Amino acid sequence: MNDDQRIDLTEAIPAEVAEVDLYQKREKIYTRKIEGFFQRLRLYTGWPLLIGYFGLPWLEWGGRQAILFDLPARKFHILGMTFWPQDFSLLAFLLIIAAYALFAVTVVAGRVWCGYTCPQTVWTAIFMYLEQRFEGSRNQRIKLDKAPWSIEKVWRKGMKHSSWMVVAFMTGMTFVGYFYPIKQLVPELATFSTGFWQAAWTVFFTLATYINAGWMREQVCKYMCPYARFQSVMFDKDTLIVSYNHARGEPRGSRKHDADPKELGLGECIDCQLCVQVCPTGIDIREGLQYECIGCALCIDACNSIMDKMQYPRDLISYTSEHELAGGKMHWFRPRILGYAAMLCIMMSVFAYNLINRVPLELTVMRDRGDLYVQTNDGRIENIYTLHIVNMTDQQHRYLLSVEGLDDVLIMGNREPLVPAGEDLTVSLRLNAPSGASATASSPIHFNLTAEDNPQLSVRIESRFMRPL
Ligand code: SF4
Ligand code: SF4
Repeated sequence: MNDDQRIDLTEAIPAEVAEVDLYQKREKIYTRKIEGFFQRLRLYTGWPLLIGYFGLPWLEWGGRQAILFDLPARKFHILGMTFWPQDFSLLAFLLIIAAYALFAVTVVAGRVWCGYTCPQTVWTAIFMYLEQRFEGSRNQRIKLDKAPWSIEKVWRKGMKHSSWMVVAFMTGMTFVGYFYPIKQLVPELATFSTGFWQAAWTVFFTLATYINAGWMREQVCKYMCPYARFQSVMFDKDTLIVSYNHARGEPRGSRKHDADPKELGLGECIDCQLCVQVCPTGIDIREGLQYECIGCALCIDACNSIMDKMQYPRDLISYTSEHELAGGKMHWFRPRILGYAAMLCIMMSVFAYNLINRVPLELTVMRDRGDLYVQTNDGRIENIYTLHIVNMTDQQHRYLLSVEGLDDVLIMGNREPLVPAGEDLTVSLRLNAPSGASATASSPIHFNLTAEDNPQLSVRIESRFMRPL
């Protein structure tokens, strides 16, 4: 990207903070509740995610938990498919695609991930909702915090923290339920009979949720999230960002409802501070695009409600681009986006191809290193092999073993190994072949292993057969 395509992001560090102490104590943010189009949109994106998160571990598929990352057995069960450590490359590829998709979305629409779907944002929104339920509106919360301790304050604070703990516990328990059968975990936790690690991880994730969403909130986005720091590299002048229309809003200032701003020499911002009061990261979007802005668009809803009241046109703060703000047009189909889209399609196609053509069967062949070969009394040559078969399916299979590349070969050992579902088996066998005349001491051979009931379930592995020159 050229320098002239880059857009400036600033960091909203108040001057006194920069001068006094880099580790200034956190200023508590009291966000004001706001309703509007983007707030509703956040609900519509948040609910499916929450339902998915809490509901998925309870789903069954083929008599087993549909999504279960069974770490002790080193198997990942996902919607009827079982992935083994051998499939790690697929998982790594999927993560690369997800990261790439995030980059692509960021180029088009800025930090929509942060504003609408990031778990930190979604859980913080739940915790803020509970806070408002028990402690009241912004002003009531400020007043409550300043008030001396009383029975009412203890009750309100107690209820808030208790409800946070309930949500945090359900979150932590569900998270562990992705790694340990949740239908076992819940009764075990209820009867205090669960294992040490299940209990320890549940407590850990409960506390992590409680602290992150209840106490740290925007601090996580501002100081801990690496994405917040490098996302600006992906922005260009056509990226959708939440922006204040400086030209239209300034000079800002209060005025009477029916006053004509032009006569007063004012812009359309009435300096009501509502956009600042609703901001979950506590910034003032009127100061320009800042690293701290998670693109949640609550300031848009807030400002639009004011614009409606003042009977000014909406979108003094809006999703827009630098080009649009400068009076130009937004370019949706720019080469960068098309490149990202094409690359994403290619990566997803390669992933889908590999997933569809994945053979859930693994065979490794090891030749006996002790004796290169054995010559039998009848002049034939024998080589000894150890075969390791991994049945990565959910059904038991009998496999048929054959060898290619040797004439008149005898396979001595278990030629039809039976391997239970999700198990592995080690088979030792000897190949017996005529000594024959050979120009080389070793010749390539292939072991074929095919499921008796499913010819698609088949692998072919190369090895070598040793004989005297
Ligand atoms: S400035 Fe607006 S969009 Fe950015 S975080 Fe604050 S409220 Fe959300
Ligand atoms: S909400 Fe709108 S009018 Fe009020 S201070 Fe913010 S930008 Fe100005």
